[in-house]
Amino acid sequence: MLGDPIPKKGPAVAAITNWARNITFSADRLHRPAGLDALRAVVAESGHIRVLGSGHSFNRIADVDAERGGALVSLVDLPHRIDVDTAARTVRVGGGVRYAELAAELHAHGLALPNMASLPHISVAGSVATGTHGSGNGNRSLAESVRAVELLTGDGELVTLARGDAGFEGAVVSLGALGVVLSLTLDAEPSFDVAQHVFRELPFEGLDFDAVSSAAYSVSLFTGWGGPRFDQVWVKQRVPEPVRFPWAEPAEEARHPVPGMDAVHCTEQFGAPGPWHERLPHFRAGFTPSSGDELQSEYLLPREHAVAALAALDAVRDRLAPVVQVCEVRTVAADTQWLSPAYGRDTVAFHFTWVADTARVLPVVSLVEDRLREFAPRPHWGKVFTTPPARIAERYPHAADFVALAERLDPEGKFSNAFVRETLARGA
Ligand SMILES: Cc1cc2nc3c(=O)[nH]c(=O)nc-3n(C[C@H](O)[C@H](O)[C@H](O)COP(=O)(O)OP(=O)(O)OC[C@H]3O[C@@H](n4cnc5c(N)ncnc54)[C@H](O)[C@@H]3O)c2cc1C
Repeated sequence: MLGDPIPKKGPAVAAITNWARNITFSADRLHRPAGLDALRAVVAESGHIRVLGSGHSFNRIADVDAERGGALVSLVDLPHRIDVDTAARTVRVGGGVRYAELAAELHAHGLALPNMASLPHISVAGSVATGTHGSGNGNRSLAESVRAVELLTGDGELVTLARGDAGFEGAVVSLGALGVVLSLTLDAEPSFDVAQHVFRELPFEGLDFDAVSSAAYSVSLFTGWGGPRFDQVWVKQRVPEPVRFPWAEPAEEARHPVPGMDAVHCTEQFGAPGPWHERLPHFRAGFTPSSGDELQSEYLLPREHAVAALAALDAVRDRLAPVVQVCEVRTVAADTQWLSPAYGRDTVAFHFTWVADTARVLPVVSLVEDRLREFAPRPHWGKVFTTPPARIAERYPHAADFVALAERLDPEGKFSNAFVRETLARGA
């Protein structure tokens, strides 16, 4: 299921859902063009259109507007192009490619990406469109590796925006609102190895967040809010840098972030060195890491508020614990993408994997937003949130610039949808 959330081709299509199945899209069929001409034809004949990536978002960001009869299109059947330029250390990757495919190909060429998200099964274009990130004080969002975006716009034109071009910073974290992303060109670096260690039981009391989060290349702290402590800390260090983590004891057995789940789906632990793409994600590319029986939310706020925000949430841990499967705290370096939740501020991210029960979860999502409000959190674009749209736009200094870019590239609003309009007030 995880590997292929998109229904197979066929005349009678059952409901088209996202991976978590909490969203049923408002389109009655999914177009799967097999080439550029066929894709162009779908774009030309549709007054309104959205691209579905691998369907791993938890809200209506990828949806079409039902009342506009929009077309939902997937690029999975387009050729999965991955063109590596070893000398230039760049890679051009097609709009339907997933990180697992890209990472294996880059590694085969002796190259790497600086970071990955927890799951390698997500599509590259869909991930950068929402500002997806991994962890690490020095690691920026995945979108920041993008050096050029190739778009098919609503009028059938091919437009490339490269780093340095006017508007480029708005074109990567695009919420899918500018056109079909046909390809992305990414910076790569020489391949490197990573060793992953898991530690257990780090108390909140006396936490030196800066020291802990900067202890390695990538650090993730997990709590189920059962008490004032992180139950696990995942420490990913580039080899041969040493690992010093004096604040907690090493785990004695392999761990899954969610207590009780089998660690067989997780990337290797106990410090065994391995290639970057087999350690930086939490989950292995070759396994199905979970059934999709979950919802997710995440809030990104300035890193200097990490300890205060943790205390604000700890004060309501009795409300969180019953609906949380696990909460992950990680860091992201400030970036330059206008709609990236880490735009312009070194960031701490509070991620929640909730139980798959929208009615029980939503009031607690609102509670979390209320507790974090003084820290001006930006919700993850691809996850569940209840923050009023106007308040989200306020937290992005370039929101109006993005709307202007969208009006330039997509004057008819073909690629806009209710999610984008409500959040950024485009056309309101
Ligand atoms: C198990 C799991 C783990 C996750 N881990 C992380 C994590 O570690 N860090 C993190 O930040 N997030 C994480 N996420 C969230 C996930 O990265 C985002 O929701 C991401 O956007 C999913 O990519 P997708 O391809 O599934 O996008 P979709 O949900 O399919 O689409 C997202 C947006 O991208 C647009 N889009 C997709 N492809 C194109 C294209 N070719 N052209 C134009 N627009 C396009 C869509 O229209 C939509 O607006 C996780 C999600 C899951 C389910």
